[in-house]
Amino acid sequence: MSTAVVHYTAAALTDRGRKRPSNEDAFGYSVEDGVFVVCDGMGGAAAGEIASSLAVDEMLRLLAARSAGPQVTQAPLLQIAEEAIGIANEAIFTRAQRNYRLNGMGTTMVVLVAEESRLWVLNIGDSRCYRLRDHQLEQLTLDHSLVEEQVRLGRMTRAEALRSPLRNVITRALGTQKKITPDIFPLDVVPGDRYLLCSDGLTRELTDAQIEALLVGEGPLEEQCDRLVTAANRAGGNDNITCILVQAEI
Ligand code: CA
Repeated sequence: MSTAVVHYTAAALTDRGRKRPSNEDAFGYSVEDGVFVVCDGMGGAAAGEIASSLAVDEMLRLLAARSAGPQVTQAPLLQIAEEAIGIANEAIFTRAQRNYRLNGMGTTMVVLVAEESRLWVLNIGDSRCYRLRDHQLEQLTLDHSLVEEQVRLGRMTRAEALRSPLRNVITRALGTQKKITPDIFPLDVVPGDRYLLCSDGLTRELTDAQIEALLVGEGPLEEQCDRLVTAANRAGGNDNITCILVQAEI
């Protein structure tokens, strides 16, 4: 057995796209704290921006506090991540309750937390996490959206889902109710794995095959992020586009 320690490098990019007047996506990450997060806000421009940036800030703050604390008193990373999501949810919910202009604001969240070769992905809403391993792209998360749930139940085809007027309806969002439960995906990391966290502004414009083709090419992670955003804009850029790439290495 190799005892080499897995470490991570990352790059990210967000873009308003070509049609929207503002950018309601937010992202943040800390390689040191092992946290990477993408949020896609909703509820009107100002509200959406507040919800998504509040969620990102809370996650980074709470995960950084973990790294700063003494090792012996630390709760497991997954537990801390789940608690952080609960706190972020309440922060958005409370703020929306206090200000009628922010009523109904919310955000998706996809977050990856990593500790050496253990990694967890947690998600709420339709922002996604993919893994590229052996040149093959695999979607790890399941969208909490009305049409995706219909597809999973066999009541709608994928082609119908893409055209449906209800395709924007998400069934779980951070900040819209008092309690929230994320999906949790525990994963074993293999050196060489690359993880993509992204908002739907990327995945609505590009197929999984197109994303895979763009990621299989070599080059720095920053360039790869740029390739993804450029391709999504060329395909229409109908929404805000955000991606984080996380590379596992030894
Ligand atoms: Ca979006």
